[in-house]
Amino acid sequence: MSMNLENRFDQTFVAKDNNLKYSFELKDVKTILNKRKGERSLFIGDYSLNPYMGCSFDCSYCYVNGSKYANKTSSLIVKSNAYELVKAQLKNKAKHGERAIINLGTATDCYMSIERELGLTRDILKIINRFRFSVHIITKSDLILRDIDILKKIQKSAILPGDVKCEDNTIKSIITFSFSTTDDEIAKIFEYNAPRPSKRLKIVDKLKKEGFLVGVALMPILPFISDDEDCLNKIFSDFKKHDVDHVLHGSLTLFGDKNTHSKVRYLNLLKENYPELYDKTSKIFGEKNYLSKNYQEKLNKRVHKIANDFSIKTSIISQYFKKDII
Ligand code: SF4
Repeated sequence: MSMNLENRFDQTFVAKDNNLKYSFELKDVKTILNKRKGERSLFIGDYSLNPYMGCSFDCSYCYVNGSKYANKTSSLIVKSNAYELVKAQLKNKAKHGERAIINLGTATDCYMSIERELGLTRDILKIINRFRFSVHIITKSDLILRDIDILKKIQKSAILPGDVKCEDNTIKSIITFSFSTTDDEIAKIFEYNAPRPSKRLKIVDKLKKEGFLVGVALMPILPFISDDEDCLNKIFSDFKKHDVDHVLHGSLTLFGDKNTHSKVRYLNLLKENYPELYDKTSKIFGEKNYLSKNYQEKLNKRVHKIANDFSIKTSIISQYFKKDII
């Protein structure tokens, strides 16, 4: 293992926000870059990269918990050979003339609290910069501010893939903050250990001032809590005040049937905090993990109308791509 992860590593890490304790394991993995299947999706990247497995922000609705991507141990995992794998693979791709946008943080938050101690995401960004790839980071954490220097270097030096016709550099370092609500009190219930939405919005301001393309992912929109017209209007109005560049959105997905799984945890939280919503929500999911096509179509329509009213884009500058991103 290089990068002295072992020296930086303490088996029991105390999360700073609320003193919850998490144990972490170091584990070698076989692959680190996952190539997208098919056309560019909402997050636009060619590859996804997650330096950790599991996430200490521990949002109750996290789609990973109970899904096939779930961590199989009770500890969170630090991918100990991530740095070497990224370095070898990006070096090889650059040598063969391949260019790509890399999505960081699609199945974990790459800026969860342990990153403060380990700096693994920072090391990976340095490699991405060295081989001139572009990056799209999805996070809830203010720790991203630490890496502004590298993100700026990426903005200057990355070479975009051939299907991107961007005339400025902004698309080379894209940042998307994820939200299920902009209300700190609601967030305290469903995403207790993550930085509060009000804090995230302040970081949006700072990163925008630094000249980055900064948007948000309203994912998941919570049924009967943040999905009606009034709530969405309030949320979009909050985003507008912070001049976000895009709002990506998605509905709630709940997997699994064990206590640690998102479906059980989410419904239990409803029982405690919104008892009147428990039956309604259980019913619209039934045995399924996804909400019905009909629900999703109605929600999409509502979101697109409101986004249009606020003149906010619902995809990442699709005009820069030769094909539209839905
Ligand atoms: S921050 Fe993202 S990855 Fe982490 S628990 Fe929450 S939803 Fe899951």
